Amino acid sequence: MPRYVANGRYFHTAVTTMLSLALFASASATLMNVLSAPHRPLDLIVPPVMCALFAGLLIALLRRPRWLLTIARIALLASGAALIMPTWFYTAQAIMTSGLQLVTTLPPISALLLVLIVMVMIFFPGRQAIGMALLAWILVGGPVLLYLFGHPGEMWTPRGRALVMTYGPAAVMLVVLLPILRGMSGTIERLVSDRVWMEALINQDPLTGIHNRRVGEQILRDCLTKQAGAGLIMFDLDRFKAINDTYGHIIGDQVLTVVADRCKQLLRADACVSRWGGEEFLAVIPGADITGVCRLAERLREAIANAPIGPVPSVTASFGVTMLAPGDTLAIAVERADRRLYESKQRGRNCVVSSAALSAGAQPTPATPLDGGR
Ligand code: GH3
Ligand code: MG
Ligand code: MG
Repeated sequence: MPRYVANGRYFHTAVTTMLSLALFASASATLMNVLSAPHRPLDLIVPPVMCALFAGLLIALLRRPRWLLTIARIALLASGAALIMPTWFYTAQAIMTSGLQLVTTLPPISALLLVLIVMVMIFFPGRQAIGMALLAWILVGGPVLLYLFGHPGEMWTPRGRALVMTYGPAAVMLVVLLPILRGMSGTIERLVSDRVWMEALINQDPLTGIHNRRVGEQILRDCLTKQAGAGLIMFDLDRFKAINDTYGHIIGDQVLTVVADRCKQLLRADACVSRWGGEEFLAVIPGADITGVCRLAERLREAIANAPIGPVPSVTASFGVTMLAPGDTLAIAVERADRRLYESKQRGRNCVVSSAALSAGAQPTPATPLDGGR
């Protein structure tokens, strides 16, 4: 199946619609066969079975939307089988029973082959679509066409000519869909990958690969809007200018990248660390209390300080920790974390200073270094 099928919400709608209409068609066929006489066993079996199958697939799709591709595939394969069975049965019956005409016994299913071919072309990728459409055409149209060519008397009846037109030129004309669908599929896949690329461009810090400030602010804003408790850890590399001056900007860039990697690895999936600017980072930790956030900040501090980065024997960072408080705005919360960070610089760097602000405008609690500093 084309890759874009799995991603598009509209394909979910398309499969739901396809199953609903197929359910309606098979239910109508069941009803008509029950009401019409004489009752032919195959006509009383195939439509109700398909009816039950489509109903089951529809329920499965509603309950498990992730099974979209499998469900669409099962529906198409089953529909193919439901067309092949009566075609072969009634063709064989007409050949073996003298006086019995295929044009009078074959159920009105020829147009369904065209529908099936179109669906196969939409839901299966390029080559597979051609192979499957060709197989469906050979297995469904083949026996009828061969039979009619062998029985010209039946072929020239109105139904015979309609069958030849449907299984012949009309089915073959569907080939015109192939280049169109292939072009559309290519365009959509290109657009999807362009979108992914542009999203990365907008949201990612190009140097470190972590979120940029835009995303950091957005996540923080979400926490403030939902009034979900969250901790903020703002940290800044110590004497980074000296690292640049001593080892050069390229090594400085490498230091930033490694620091970002080490921090990212320590965070839970629901937490986020973003590059706030230059050599400054902001981590947002939802659903944690001040003790947990301070402990995490301490682990981040150790992860940065405990191992050299490239030729730089010692890289350290200073940390400011605060909790979001009721009534906080983004600016107030960040300002509070920034003040704690400033205090940690004042205290000699390479340490964590925290404040548990209880309300907007509340004065931060006295700075508390959680480790011994340098
Ligand atoms: P402090 O401990 O007080 O934070 O001192 P500092 O030297 O880290 O702070 P300062 O603000 O004086 O210097 C920050 C330096 O970070 C200056 C700037 O050139 C450098 N910097 C900012 N962004 C980048 C970057 O993307 N790559 C590199 N290599 N350096 C950067
Ligand atoms: Mg710095
Ligand atoms: Mg700085």
